Amino acid sequence: MNVLVTGGAGYIGSHACLRLLNDGHAVSVLDNFVNGHQQAIDVLQGLAEPGRLTFCEGDLRERDKVAALLEDRSIEVVMHFAALAEVGQSMGDPLLYHDNNFVGSLSLLQAMDRVGVRRLVFSSTCATYGEPDQTQIPIRETCPQRPINPYGASKLHVERLLADYAGSVPEFAYAALRYFNVAGSDPEGRIGEDHRPESHLIPICLQAALGKRDRMSIFGTDYPTPDGTCIRDYVHVVDLVDAHVHAMHALEPGDQRHYNIGIGKGHSVRECIDTAREVTGVDFEVVEAPRRPGDPPTLFACCDRIQEELGWTARYTDLTETVSTAWNWFSAHPNGYED
Ligand code: UDP
Repeated sequence: MNVLVTGGAGYIGSHACLRLLNDGHAVSVLDNFVNGHQQAIDVLQGLAEPGRLTFCEGDLRERDKVAALLEDRSIEVVMHFAALAEVGQSMGDPLLYHDNNFVGSLSLLQAMDRVGVRRLVFSSTCATYGEPDQTQIPIRETCPQRPINPYGASKLHVERLLADYAGSVPEFAYAALRYFNVAGSDPEGRIGEDHRPESHLIPICLQAALGKRDRMSIFGTDYPTPDGTCIRDYVHVVDLVDAHVHAMHALEPGDQRHYNIGIGKGHSVRECIDTAREVTGVDFEVVEAPRRPGDPPTLFACCDRIQEELGWTARYTDLTETVSTAWNWFSAHPNGYED
């Protein structure tokens, strides 16, 4: 298939490109390099069969450019990853988030509408659920969506936009995948995770192990959990991408699919730190710090729906394995991408 991957130079998008290329698809990437890396594209270009990967630098809000790309490359399906995804940043600059994530997605959909591209797999998030009542854990797709930050709100608005559009265009089909905490890297270490600044737990542990940070902090040790630290569902990026591929192949006209993507169990912050120490062999320094605003105590997914409907299930269910693949990347690229 001819697939457009928005945000294909970023962490998750580049892993999607790798998988799509391996599966024999023709991949077109659109990325504005706000969070993406040229070097990720270079690596992918080096792995792709001639002509199977094309790159366009641009922004989703450049609607004419996006429409031309869709038409020129005869795109059949879009995997839409391009987004800003820092909760803290979204609290400080909600307009930026709604413009980039919502207006960007609206513009993409308008371009798709103009040229008749009818299938979309959208990166949504468990942040659309906000702070679910702890009786609703594990979280099902039917859990009320009440985001508590502009990042989650911007993604929920896109889900609603997609539903409205699908209601008026019967041939349109979409899947919104609500990611839990994404972790790990290509097991061969060819591409990986490089956020600047980094805010995610597992990369921060690994940077501490590398000596890139003097120490790391646990944000909150007084949560109502067995060890007092927050519990999250860490899904491997390779499994996440596999869920996208399952969704892409399943889409039929009129489909409006919504799936949680996780491993269906949670790990505490302390468990992640212990695992990172074990995997790296480095006893990096950890300090206890106050809670981070907006962190619910426990979040993990129920993934029965995607398992039942699409036959997808996570294969990386062992945190040590997930952290090991991340460590392959971080230890070989202590400074991340060199661009
Ligand atoms: N966390 C932490 N120290 C850090 C980074 C994160 O204790 O340096 C905690 C954070 O408070 C949350 C969990 O680790 O409970 C996962 O955070 P992350 O930012 O990786 O993902 P989020 O759950 O916010 O999407």
